[in-house]
Amino acid sequence: MGMIRVLDNLVANQIAAGEVVERPAAAVKELIENAIDAGATAIRVQTREGGLALIDVQDNGQGILQDDIEPAFLRHATSKLRSLADLTRLSQLGFRGEALPSIAAVSRLILRTRTAQDEAGVEARLEAGVLRERQPVGCPQGTRIMVRDLFYNTPARLKFVRSLATENSHIADVVSRAAMARPDIAFRLHIDDRLALSTPGDGLVVSAYTAIYGVEMAKQSYAAIAGSADYSVAGLIAAPEHARSSRTGMWFAVNGRPIRSLPLGGAVIDGYHTLLPKGRFPVCFLHLSMDAGLVDVNVHPGKLEVRFSEERDVMRVVTESVRQAMHANMGTPTITSWNDPRAHAQSVVDGGASDGGAEARDGLLMMQDGAAVRETAAAHEGAGGFQERDAASRWRGGQALRVRRPDADQAEQRQMALDLHRPATRDAVTDGDALNEARQPLDGKPALRAVAQALKLVIVAEDGRDLYLIDQHAAHERVLYEKFRKRMNEDRVRAEELLVPITIGLRPHQLQELMTRVSDAQAVGLAFEPFGEDALKITSAPAIWEGLDTEGLSRDLLSDLLEGRSSSVREQIEDKVIMKACKAAVKANQTLSPPEMDALLDALSTLDNPFTCPHGRPTAVRITREQLEREFRRTL
Ligand code: ADP
Ligand code: MG
Repeated sequence: MGMIRVLDNLVANQIAAGEVVERPAAAVKELIENAIDAGATAIRVQTREGGLALIDVQDNGQGILQDDIEPAFLRHATSKLRSLADLTRLSQLGFRGEALPSIAAVSRLILRTRTAQDEAGVEARLEAGVLRERQPVGCPQGTRIMVRDLFYNTPARLKFVRSLATENSHIADVVSRAAMARPDIAFRLHIDDRLALSTPGDGLVVSAYTAIYGVEMAKQSYAAIAGSADYSVAGLIAAPEHARSSRTGMWFAVNGRPIRSLPLGGAVIDGYHTLLPKGRFPVCFLHLSMDAGLVDVNVHPGKLEVRFSEERDVMRVVTESVRQAMHANMGTPTITSWNDPRAHAQSVVDGGASDGGAEARDGLLMMQDGAAVRETAAAHEGAGGFQERDAASRWRGGQALRVRRPDADQAEQRQMALDLHRPATRDAVTDGDALNEARQPLDGKPALRAVAQALKLVIVAEDGRDLYLIDQHAAHERVLYEKFRKRMNEDRVRAEELLVPITIGLRPHQLQELMTRVSDAQAVGLAFEPFGEDALKITSAPAIWEGLDTEGLSRDLLSDLLEGRSSSVREQIEDKVIMKACKAAVKANQTLSPPEMDALLDALSTLDNPFTCPHGRPTAVRITREQLEREFRRTL
């Protein structure tokens, strides 16, 4: 007898489960996707013990027809895809038909479901994928799937599960990303009976963002919007101060589907340009919409990655959206930490949902006096969970983003995500509104007057209304940087012939290599020729290097060229300009006279981005009159 046997169904499903359900959060993700695909407008998720004891996902979607219940648990059974051609116009999240059978194979699962046309619902109980019981049950329209004892029959898999706290934070992450990608759906997440997330489902990106990150953060985030003929981008990006040391805060959704993407992350970072220090990654959430034919969603088993047919075009639009948002919004950061309880609120995602993050957030939601988030439990009860709220539309002067359901008709969807809500009228916003207090738009650029220098470190200044502390070094750096950069843009590649050519010794093979790069070098203003077999002679250098260590910069540039980094030479020159600004700027510990301080402030106030140094650090903090009055307990 031969050795090869067709695997029985259970074994096959358990093996598939290893891919589809690598950890509890993956099961949560699949169940949420099914609920979304079923047209739910409200989704409730509960988990216990990191999802191992219980994952309970309830939706108010269309439900499963009685006859479809058993097929739903068969492998590759799906109601969503009939042919390969369907794949390209798929607006739904699931299409492999693997999730339910895989999850069922490694758990004890209870399904309750009812469609609109059925009077009674059905309850089905499965154990290790085998249907044990099926009976009529009274239940609301929609589907509820309770997964108990995940991995109970696959101890090997169980061993890979990390600490419960880790699993909980993965679960919070999955639900948060889904909520952000679909602000039109009301999500609620309870982890071990604690409310970890609750979004209103009002269609506004900013509402979901606020629910996830908290009001403080939302106040310091900006709308990023851009579009081309084929693509549109809309979302929120946080001020550079909120940048993190990893990419964990960069979230994207393509046509309502949360995805990961390194290139998109790079495009966002490009948009921040020098406002972001090297090695720091911004927090952002961007919705991209495009024709379904322009993106391939079937390139990753977890459907986490996508492939764009015109990646460059997509990137350009993304960078543009960020660039514009930064340009329009960079103001002075305001000190918010003193005696300000809101500053202590933690976001669920950052704080870890398992350890009080949720409590902090609940507190936060209640503490708001309605200015930013008016969150009521009622908004989430009942089927729809929809409620128009004025809160979000006031956000940052009323600019809020509304995302339409991706299953809206195609033409509408093209316009989609990105329908801008009209700003609330001025009188709808009370004066001193916490939201407007946060940052001053640049067009209202304050005329700063130096009051004094303090600690040989900061300039104390005022604009007649608020108080400013300005980092003298960072401010001067910004001024010089802008000056150099302006010059650089004017004569970016203008080469200046050197009076005394510089000779640089090299190994022969390096020389040969460099001679193949002559045109790259010329493109940035550096010209050289061989000088014997083991040296080259630099005859002209970029004009903007004037007054700098031309030899040192040339050596740097040559070694960059040798390492094949020529494509980023422009960037590197910019780095050099930053360094140059940095070196020339006044230092901490330097005494400044009043005219010097005023000159610096004047120069600063003419800049586009006066309040961030070229390394992305703030140059100034603002303390508002209101804050001072609060501090000194003066009543207005
Ligand atoms: P897929 O989502 O790839 O189609 P699944 O195994 O996740 O595969 O689900 C199988 C089928 O079960 C789906 O195609 C759908 O018809 C049905 N289904 C699963 N979950 C739900 C739900 N929450 N509401 C309605 N139908 C569902
Ligand atoms: Mg599915």
